[in-house]
Amino acid sequence: MLMARPVIVAHHTRSGLAALNVVTAALQTDPLTDGVEVRFARDRAALAAGLTAAAGAGAVPVAAWSFYSPDFLESARDLSWVRARAPGLHVAGGVHATAEPLATLRAGFDLVALGEGEATAVALASTLIASGDPRDLPGIAFLRQDRLVSNGPGERRALDDFPAFNARARKWNALEITRGCIYACSFCQTPFMFKARFRHRSVGNVRAQVARMRESGTVRYARFLTPTCLSYGSTNASADLDAVEELLAAVREELPEGKIYFGTFPSECRPEHVTPAALRVLKKYVDNDQLVIGGQSGSDRVLRATHRGHTVEDVRRAARACLEAGFVPTSTSCSDCRAKRPRIARSPSPSPRSSSTWARGSTAMPSCRCRERRSRAPYRSRSTTPSGRRSSASSRGARCTDSGARSKGSRRTWSRSDAVRRLGSRSQILLPSQSPATTAQRPRTFEAAR
Ligand code: SF4
Repeated sequence: MLMARPVIVAHHTRSGLAALNVVTAALQTDPLTDGVEVRFARDRAALAAGLTAAAGAGAVPVAAWSFYSPDFLESARDLSWVRARAPGLHVAGGVHATAEPLATLRAGFDLVALGEGEATAVALASTLIASGDPRDLPGIAFLRQDRLVSNGPGERRALDDFPAFNARARKWNALEITRGCIYACSFCQTPFMFKARFRHRSVGNVRAQVARMRESGTVRYARFLTPTCLSYGSTNASADLDAVEELLAAVREELPEGKIYFGTFPSECRPEHVTPAALRVLKKYVDNDQLVIGGQSGSDRVLRATHRGHTVEDVRRAARACLEAGFVPTSTSCSDCRAKRPRIARSPSPSPRSSSTWARGSTAMPSCRCRERRSRAPYRSRSTTPSGRRSSASSRGARCTDSGARSKGSRRTWSRSDAVRRLGSRSQILLPSQSPATTAQRPRTFEAAR
């Protein structure tokens, strides 16, 4: 059999960097693909140069892409630019490509890797080595006569099966300890992409990953990636504090001098899990003085409509518990910054339906970079139908396809005095309302993933 030599050049820019670290590291877990050369291109010129060099050396040049929705059009422009200058097979994966495979392929990508990418990356590289056709692989989508052909999502494997980052390339990222989410909030892509159940990385595996970071000599702290940090070790809605403590104790043993950031981005807490008992465990091990609470909305109606499974009072109670335990509570509304972004109070008596007020009588909140990012992205207007309803990608993928929504831009940090003032008896937290139609009409796409 004629063996080919693929060279993978990861377009390591903008969003999706961690995903590219993880899928390229997955190649190291299979003896056949362990030796596949992987390069990281910091911009489109480096990508074109890498692909050209690989082709010149007789290898099969493969470009790996991963991007969030706000970066889609920019990535498509980069793709056209690279295609005009270099040969290569262009494979797009990640949250946007999974949510919008047809649009992604029509933008010019050759293949889309649907869902989880690790097993697909190994299979794709193995197939290229064997000079096979990657379009036959599970987890791959492609166009045939401009129609989408999908082989279904990539194989969902145990987190322990793959590294959490690409240590060989010294590409570090937050250590993913849990994938999937049982809560299945209607706006969120996590259960759609990873299933509505938890898969946890084992304590032993986490310990090994942390040891690898420490041994590198360059990483002196551990951050974690999880949809809900206090669900670690749990299979249901209750927190398993013993499992959380076992995890944190193991990490502390591996990083006696290092910092542990847990319960802060990207490992937020659900409000109902933030109890005095949980905070005592966190206080023992973590170095962050903030806790990020996934509040999502100040409207019980919106929380119900989006199946969040908690109330506004849960968020208030969690914030108070944080303050009493010595943490600064920070709230996220990662689901849809545009709809929920707080603004300055404009009316002395705002109503949840008409107002976009964070707290009665409040001062201006920090501006939201997520909104700015989106407003620059032409994708916004493309995803709005003439009737004003948003299309499926923007509605269902808002959380995970927008790095801004998961980054600092979407957080409202309450200083201690600010929080006490806001949570005072005369304060009422109100967030901009969403039209009931917006949430009610959204497709419950996660159902398919259950
Ligand atoms: S918003 Fe958070 S809690 Fe809800 S489904 Fe997504 S990850 Fe889970």
